[in-house]
Amino acid sequence: MISVAEVDRLLSAQLGGTDTELVALAQCVGRCLAVPAVADRDGPPFHRVAMDGYAVRAQSGQRAQSGQRAWRVAGLQVAGKPPQTLTDPQTALEVATGAVLPLGCDTVVPYEATLRSGDQVDLLADAPPVAKGNHVHPQGTDYRSEQVLVPAGTVLRSPHLHSLASVGLDPVPVRRRAVWSLASTGDELVAVHRTPLAWQIRQSNLAALEGEARAWGLAPREAQTLPDNRPLLLEGLKSQLGVVDALVLTGGVSAGVLDLVPGVLEELGVQTLFHRVAQRPGKPFWCGRLPANALGRATLVFGLPGNPVSSLFAFRRYVLPWLLAFEGRPAGPRRVEVHGLRARDDDQTVFLPWSEETGVMEWKGSGDYLALAGSTGFVEIDRDPRSGVEPWMYCWGGRE
Ligand code: AMP
Ligand code: MG
Repeated sequence: MISVAEVDRLLSAQLGGTDTELVALAQCVGRCLAVPAVADRDGPPFHRVAMDGYAVRAQSGQRAQSGQRAWRVAGLQVAGKPPQTLTDPQTALEVATGAVLPLGCDTVVPYEATLRSGDQVDLLADAPPVAKGNHVHPQGTDYRSEQVLVPAGTVLRSPHLHSLASVGLDPVPVRRRAVWSLASTGDELVAVHRTPLAWQIRQSNLAALEGEARAWGLAPREAQTLPDNRPLLLEGLKSQLGVVDALVLTGGVSAGVLDLVPGVLEELGVQTLFHRVAQRPGKPFWCGRLPANALGRATLVFGLPGNPVSSLFAFRRYVLPWLLAFEGRPAGPRRVEVHGLRARDDDQTVFLPWSEETGVMEWKGSGDYLALAGSTGFVEIDRDPRSGVEPWMYCWGGRE
């Protein structure tokens, strides 16, 4: 029997791959950038007009009848065209936002500050002063060519996509996502859409675990149910080993006569990392590893207990963070303040369903999935809560 802390250590020792894959730019939010995004030009790449109006040279223009400064409009500079040149400083070039500031101009007078009649434009009496640099976004003031805009290792969000697009990065090299599959085991299990016999149950672990994974943007490559039958387990598990990075099983890891999973996996060359963890629920947790060989990749096998609550807690507590870490995404728990917990006098870690509204929830044990319905997640209590250490909280995915 090992501790929860030891499990964490053993599982993180199974990480360390830095394989990358290419993902379309618009699909890489939430993924971990594998290379730095480096500017291939200044930002902005030219002196950019930041308001619709008139580009002029500050201090230029003539006195109009109104007593205000005025210019003759000599042309139009729209966005997406090479810069024009202002030849006569007494004139203005009409400009659009996003255009290159015409050569010979150093400021922009927005439409709001002017009155236009024919080809003459007058500055309004109450207009702010026309100073050099107004409404011009100068070249290179946001970033310089060669600058790292987004460092490798960044978990991407939509604002980063502006930067990636600006430097021409599409598709984007991101950390490779783990390939994993899911299987539940048990002779008593029937598919959800079938009517169970009196001694059978509809299996729910596959849906709950896959649902939790999908809430984090992860999906198994396949999900199947296998019976408590040695030859069929051998066949079903063999087809996954060396193919997936992680195989997540539920059931068949306790002490019952038909808890065949660890034995079958060992027969298939999977080396046991640990079996049984000092935790409640989920003590029978088994984990093993098939080393990579010429025929396939290394496969980490999570043998979770079959009970609906145990398997979901263990999936959220250990498997999901491992799958996220595999692709460089953090899924750290947060600390919560929990009052009124009784002190523990042993080394066992306890997981308790927890609700943001009501705190620790009543439940009847690891089969009692109904009690979890209103939970925000669960708390992990490792030590005597009176020591002042607040417990960790693992929230269910899909919550804001
Ligand atoms: P096991 O870990 O195989 O001994 O299963 C423990 C308990 O969990 C038993 O009562 C099983 O019927 C139940 N169980 C196992 N797998 C599932 C599943 N996929 N869906 C719902 N309950 C399950
Ligand atoms: Mg079973």
